[in-house]
Amino acid sequence: MKLLDGMTAIITGAASPRGLGKATARLFAQHGARVAILDLDADEAAEAAADLPGAGHTSGVCDVTDKAACDTVVADIIAQWGQVDVLVNNAGITQPLKLMEITPHNYDAVLDVNLRGTLYMSQAVIPHMRSRGQGSIVNMSSVSAQRGGGIFGGPHYSAAKAGILGLTKAMARELAAAGVRSNAICPGFIATDITAGKLTDDMRAQVLAGIPMGRAGTAEDVAGCALFLASNLSAYVTGSEVDVNGGSLI
Ligand code: NAD
Repeated sequence: MKLLDGMTAIITGAASPRGLGKATARLFAQHGARVAILDLDADEAAEAAADLPGAGHTSGVCDVTDKAACDTVVADIIAQWGQVDVLVNNAGITQPLKLMEITPHNYDAVLDVNLRGTLYMSQAVIPHMRSRGQGSIVNMSSVSAQRGGGIFGGPHYSAAKAGILGLTKAMARELAAAGVRSNAICPGFIATDITAGKLTDDMRAQVLAGIPMGRAGTAEDVAGCALFLASNLSAYVTGSEVDVNGGSLI
């Protein structure tokens, strides 16, 4: 059974070749969805879309911190496809800073991409989803929101990802009656470009020791959860935060 047959999905920050967004796009496409890959670089986004299985995918440039850009790109996709069923707010950045190292510029940058971008993209699709009486919004938070930090993200990253949890629940509450769902995923330590090559052997051993399953997650582990939240399998799930962390919080 293809879980997303006849559905369309927009995924932000999905051009990164080994990233969570790209893996999610691939799995969605395998399950019958048409996917719009949005990212900062037009060529990389187009390349990522061309690489997906199936037909009818598209791509676009969208800096999620730019509200006008979010509104324009979503309007273009709706005009092209006539429907948007799923939005995955995946674009994110992190900075490995300590509390007293964070400048106003650092704070704005991390809050803007992770949290403001999630709001702007959601605002761009919500009127359309509301008018259709259906839709699923999936927001990428992090275990850093739940633990007050991780090995890569600074306190401002934790704050942004915790803000996403609040926003996810507030959106779920406000949109539930209109048939639009909003959920968050909290990935733990996942092997992607954000994490690749940045750990010494000691740091890696220390991280793995804190994961009961004893391994880093894969992008596909996170994509599977996004597929569940995007599809009608999760029709009665809204306002939830789903941990994909190998048991890190047990
Ligand atoms: P990645 O760096 O591989 O991908 C992030 C993508 O976001 C990139 O393609 C980048 O170009 C894009 N991006 C950055 N700023 C943008 C902007 N302003 N507008 C649009 N796109 C922008 O990262 P990843 O590891 O795949 O992470 C994806 C998401 O998952 C992020 O939100 C990240 O915070 C979250 N996350 C990752 C991990 C992990 O261990 N990898 C853990 C928890 C949460």
